[in-house]
Amino acid sequence: MSAALPFRRTKIIFTLGPATESEEMLEKMLRAGADVVRLNMAHASHEWTRDVIRRIRTVSARVGREVAIMMDIKGPEIRTGDLAAPIELKAGEIFDFTVKPGAGRDGGEEIRSVDVNYQNLVNDISVGSIVLVDNGLLRLEVLTKSDAHIRCRVLIAGQLSSRRHINLPGVKVNLPAFTEKDRADTLVGLEEGIDFVALSFVREAKDVAELRLFLAERKSTARIIAKIEDQSAITNLDEIVTACDGLMVARGDLGIECPFEDLPVIQRRAVRACIAQGRPVIVATHMLESMIVQPVPTRAEITDVANAVYEFADCVMLSGETTVGKYPVECVQMLDKIARRIEAEDDADRRTPAVFTAERMKVLHSAVVLANEIPHSKILTFTRHGFMANGLAALRPVRAPILTITPSVGLQRQLRLLRAVEPYLMPLATDPDATIENAIQLLRRAGRIAPGDKLIVATDILSLDRLVDSVQLRTVT
Ligand code: PGA
Ligand code: MN
Repeated sequence: MSAALPFRRTKIIFTLGPATESEEMLEKMLRAGADVVRLNMAHASHEWTRDVIRRIRTVSARVGREVAIMMDIKGPEIRTGDLAAPIELKAGEIFDFTVKPGAGRDGGEEIRSVDVNYQNLVNDISVGSIVLVDNGLLRLEVLTKSDAHIRCRVLIAGQLSSRRHINLPGVKVNLPAFTEKDRADTLVGLEEGIDFVALSFVREAKDVAELRLFLAERKSTARIIAKIEDQSAITNLDEIVTACDGLMVARGDLGIECPFEDLPVIQRRAVRACIAQGRPVIVATHMLESMIVQPVPTRAEITDVANAVYEFADCVMLSGETTVGKYPVECVQMLDKIARRIEAEDDADRRTPAVFTAERMKVLHSAVVLANEIPHSKILTFTRHGFMANGLAALRPVRAPILTITPSVGLQRQLRLLRAVEPYLMPLATDPDATIENAIQLLRRAGRIAPGDKLIVATDILSLDRLVDSVQLRTVT
């Protein structure tokens, strides 16, 4: 077992890239306290994917910290094609997006163009629509359209390079939610045993259901993270939260697809909707953006991370900061430091998830009430499928960590996503009492509990010959 890190409730996800993919860097990232590694399939070959997944597992074993792997599949994403050289677009210039590669050039005209990977674009878009390219850096307005191209006027100038992402605010794009590329990528992930699949641009619950069926047919235990990135996702927020196993507030695209001043409101609503339904929630993108090039974040970034912690998000996420940034390890350390400082404050608002009306949840609720009232107490729970840990995490205990024992390494990794949950791997004995005793020994050896500590044990126990849900208060001897 590696040296225990100070307890942190908020979990850290980082995206793997050139800056972090070596064994050496991975080891540093895990030791700094990363909980989940994200693979962005927009930029990944299958060979690279298999390679890094195996590397992550090797390093996890060496460091003694099983982290989860999240494969982020791109969903219905529209991109520009390859360009021989970047094009400098000038304000007022007329520019074409061609949907039939090579076609549609009106002979002899001096109009520049780029291909787009989606043929049906001309049918989804209308004259007057806004086309945003490369994270909204370039803005164009549709003037006319034909079978072969969309003719636009450049409103905001800038440089266009190869394979840039296109956003069409408010336009319902008819691309499938789960594309051919997504299928192929996911299959590789399943073969390599990934823990989470993050589905990009989820627009309705049906999109999640499609992926869920795909996973079920292949008997995968991977859990689904729905990325909300556009206006339809906001309209259908509640049904998406119900359908998924976790939500990502993908602020990069959301901030382009929606009025930017709505973004904080959307984030807050989404986090609350997830807590209310007991789903883990990730706040993603630009959290420490300036640290891509500088060793310290801006004051605004520090406050943004703090805000996510105050809102009770389960996870905060790093993207460019750890794929191409100069200070990836420092970014994890920075998130760790800010999160632990804010978690020490008491004034974040807490509410009991509305969804947990089942009797079992009331038992868990009483465990959290006890934990909140007994100073320095810790919660101990046991879980085979994650229900107990998920329920306790959703109830957001104020101070107590949720020490969670599970017999499955896959579940141990998946539990990394949940706020305040610290997962430990241990086989469960048939006798519940022996299991509790074994767990106490394990946690003592890990230096996580000591004699005199108050443990609130939420588990099922044998009473006569029946299993009953119980909450026990034990003092470690
Ligand atoms: P991406 O998703 O990094 O895959 O685009 C996150 C976001 O849009 O914020
Ligand atoms: Mn995105």
